[in-house]
Amino acid sequence: MAPSASPSPGLAVTAPVHQARVRVLHPGQGLPPAGAKPGPVDAHNVVPVWAASGKLEYSAKTFRSKMNKVLDEYLVDFPEFAEVVPWDRDQPKDIDWDTLIDTVCSQAEDVPEIDWCEPGEAAAMEALLGTKDGFLTERIKSYDSDRNYPTKPTALSGLSPYLHFGHISAQRCALEAKKRRHLSPKSVDAFLEELIIRRELADNFCYYQPHYDSVAGAWEWARKTLKDHAADKREHIYTREQLENAKTADPLWNASQLEMVHNGKMHGFMRMYWAKKILEWTSGPEEALSIAIYLNDKYHIDGRDPNGYVGCMWSICGLHDQGWKERPVFGKIRYMNYAGCKRKFNVDAYISYVKRLVAQPKKRKPEESLNSAAKYSKSEKD
Ligand SMILES: Cc1cc2nc3c(=O)[nH]c(=O)nc-3n(C[C@H](O)[C@H](O)[C@H](O)COP(=O)(O)OP(=O)(O)OC[C@H]3O[C@@H](n4cnc5c(N)ncnc54)[C@H](O)[C@@H]3O)c2cc1C
Repeated sequence: MAPSASPSPGLAVTAPVHQARVRVLHPGQGLPPAGAKPGPVDAHNVVPVWAASGKLEYSAKTFRSKMNKVLDEYLVDFPEFAEVVPWDRDQPKDIDWDTLIDTVCSQAEDVPEIDWCEPGEAAAMEALLGTKDGFLTERIKSYDSDRNYPTKPTALSGLSPYLHFGHISAQRCALEAKKRRHLSPKSVDAFLEELIIRRELADNFCYYQPHYDSVAGAWEWARKTLKDHAADKREHIYTREQLENAKTADPLWNASQLEMVHNGKMHGFMRMYWAKKILEWTSGPEEALSIAIYLNDKYHIDGRDPNGYVGCMWSICGLHDQGWKERPVFGKIRYMNYAGCKRKFNVDAYISYVKRLVAQPKKRKPEESLNSAAKYSKSEKD
C-alpha cells in the first residue's frame, strides 16, 4: 500500500487473475460511495503491481532491481484509518448461502478435508508469530538451509493459504520478518525473496500477460522448443485420471500427488518435479499445462493463485527461467528427474511421510461436511 495513496475510496484488486480483474476493468458498478472517484488499489502486493513495473518482466533478475528501487517507499507500517465511511447506498441482495455452500461442497466432494490449517486472521498471526510453532518466532532459522528438503516441510513458513485467502498480508509478514532480521539474516533474506520478489513477479506475469494459464503466454524461445519436441516419443503417457489417482510408475511422483490431495499442500520443491513430470508423461505441452493447473487448483489449499499459474508455467514452459541443454520432450526447458531427487534428499523417507499422511483418519467425510456447512449457515442466520 502506498503511504501517499489518494484517500479517495478505490476498488481492491484481490489478485490479478481473470475474475478479480473484472472489478478493475469495469469500475463504477455501484461499489464506491456517492461522489467518490473510483480507482484501483492493489490490496494483494507490497508494491502495487503497476508501480513495481510498467511491463511484463522477463526474469526475477530484471524485476528484482526495479523492486529494490521502490520497496522502501512501500514497505512501511500500515497507516491508521481515521474513520470508516458508512455505507449509504443500497444493501446487496440476500445471498442464498445454503445453495452456495452446497454447490461448493459438492464440487469438492472427492477432495479430502484438511485439519492442519485453521482459517482466520488470528490463526494466520499464530502461524507467523505464535509462541508454540510460529514461523518467525520458532522456525525461521532453518529456512535458508532446509527449505528445499521435502522431508522437512516445517522449514517452510506454511503461510501460503493465509496469504492466498487474504487472512494475512505479505506486507505484515515482511514487516515482522524485517524486525527479526538480526536473529537470522540469511533466512530472513531468503524468505523476503520468496514472499516479495517471487510472489510479486508472479503477479506481474498474471497482470500483464492475458494468457497467463496457457502455452501462448510463454516466451517465444520456449514455445518454439516445446513445439519442436511436442511429437517426441514419451516413455509413458498417462491420462488425467491416472495422474489424479496417483497411478504412475514413479513412487516419488505418486507420493507428491498424494501429499497434495491429502495434505492440501505439496512441498514447494516437489511441486517443480511434479509439474515437470506431467510435461514428460502427457501428449503435449498444452495438455500438460492444463492438467497441472486443473490438479493444482483443485487440491491445493493455496491454489487458484498467481503463484500457481506461474509455478506451472515455470515448470512446463520455462517462464522466468533460461534455456538449458536440449533433450527429448523437454527441449530446452529445465529438466528434473528421479535420480536428481535421490541425490538431493531421502526419497524413501518422503514417501513414508506421505503414506502416514494418507493413513491419518480424516476429520469428516464429504457428506458430513455438507451437513455441517448447512447447519453452520443456518446457525449464523438464527
Ligand atoms: C508447479 C507449482 C505450483 C505452485 N502452485 C502454487 C499455488 O497454487 N499457490 C501458491 O501460493 N504457490 C504455488 N507455488 C509456489 C510455491 O511452491 C508455494 O508458494 C510454496 O510452496 C508455499 O508454501 P509456503 O508458504 O510454506 O512457502 P514459503 O517458502 O514459506 O514461502 C513464503 C511465501 O512466499 C511465496 N512464494 C514462495 N515460493 C514462491 C514461488 N516459487 N513463486 C512465487 N511465490 C512464492 C508464497 O506466497 C509463500 O507463501 C507453486 C510452485 C510450483 C513450482
